[in-house]
Amino acid sequence: MPVERELSASMEAVNGPEPFSPLMAELRAAARKQGLWNLFLADSKLGAGLSIVDYGHVCELLGRTPWAPMVFNCNYPDTGNMEILLEHSTPGQRQHWTDPLVTGAIRTCFAMTEPDVASSDPTAVATSAVLEDGEWVINGRKWFISFAIGSAVCLTVAKTDPEAEPHRRFSLIGVPMDTPGLKVLRRVPVFGHAAGPGHCELLFQNCRVPAENLIAQRGMGFELAQGRLGPGRIHHCMRALGMAERALELGAQRALSRRLKHGVLGDMQMVRDVLAESRIELDAARLLVLRAARTMDLYGKERAYRDISVAKVFTAQRAQAIIDRAIQIHGALGVSDDTVLPELFINVRGLLRIGDGPDEVHKLTVAKQELRRWDPTVR
Ligand SMILES: Cc1cc2nc3c(=O)[nH]c(=O)nc-3n(C[C@H](O)[C@H](O)[C@H](O)COP(=O)(O)OP(=O)(O)OC[C@H]3O[C@@H](n4cnc5c(N)ncnc54)[C@H](O)[C@@H]3O)c2cc1C
Repeated sequence: MPVERELSASMEAVNGPEPFSPLMAELRAAARKQGLWNLFLADSKLGAGLSIVDYGHVCELLGRTPWAPMVFNCNYPDTGNMEILLEHSTPGQRQHWTDPLVTGAIRTCFAMTEPDVASSDPTAVATSAVLEDGEWVINGRKWFISFAIGSAVCLTVAKTDPEAEPHRRFSLIGVPMDTPGLKVLRRVPVFGHAAGPGHCELLFQNCRVPAENLIAQRGMGFELAQGRLGPGRIHHCMRALGMAERALELGAQRALSRRLKHGVLGDMQMVRDVLAESRIELDAARLLVLRAARTMDLYGKERAYRDISVAKVFTAQRAQAIIDRAIQIHGALGVSDDTVLPELFINVRGLLRIGDGPDEVHKLTVAKQELRRWDPTVR
């Protein structure tokens, strides 16, 4: 936290192919030396060996400052990618992608969303991959691919089997970012920010990679993408709790220091009401997130989908409201980049309310489970 401003500025200057700014690389080396590395991995040989509940508390702390997750090799989308690669990579993939990702030598990105199809529905992916002379030939356009700049490899969801049933049509293919035919067209500006590793638009134009770049089995793309999103969604929620907690603290501190004619802001009942609402919502969100984490620990991610959706919708909406209230308490200062509040707001509004499934899609999951309790045929 003492260097968060310099760290943000240094990462905004990242332009590839180097994955990390010099300051980020220095902090990562220090974290790794102290064994504060891959804290999300349950395997204690590779990470901290924590349960998902225990990691929840750590992850919340990491969420308090925007670039902390990367310092400890716990950043999206590398976390989800690492989990997939650790489970499924071939010896060749392990050498080139998995091991360097675990040790932190490279970064990766994950490409599912496309500008031309409604990507809330993962079966809508249109990018195609055709096997030709031992190579996948990939054509299509992706966007909002987080941290693509400086990534070594892009795990790409492409349609390989258009005639199969909808959930078996897609495969996951590792595409090195320097492959001819893969172009980063631009960083898509998000709330005016278009810098650093970016949320990028990618064009695949007859992009050819060896057949052995297929990850796991052909037709497993949908399954891998969904599986990756379970823990990933809950990690986003945990980080959002840290963001909201920090915003609430800043709001309370400002309420005590900002003087009005007859006292300080914190003397005003309306301000106290706002602080109380935020505390109540934040504590409720934390309990929902920890419940989802506990369900995953005890019964596995498949049994936790409802709890994950409940936690994600509530946490995303409440964290956004809590940060927004803290901004309001700060007045004009709150919308200026002189505080961390706008960066926290953008992260929650952009990534958490829309990424990994918008609120509405998660509400559908919750509602379907309620209906199915009474009528198992409901779709
Ligand atoms: C900051 C950020 C980072 C991201 N990073 C990545 C990344 O790294 N890799 C990647 O692949 N993608 C990424 N995404 C993309 C994200 O996963 C998609 O934007 C998301 O899945 C929604 O797809 P869409 O934008 O096409 O919205 P659409 O599918 O067009 O949906 C638009 C809106 O319609 C509503 N809606 C959709 N479906 C339903 C429904 N069934 N019922 C009712 N309402 C509905 C929702 O309000 C939704 O927001 C990122 C997005 C953001 C904002």
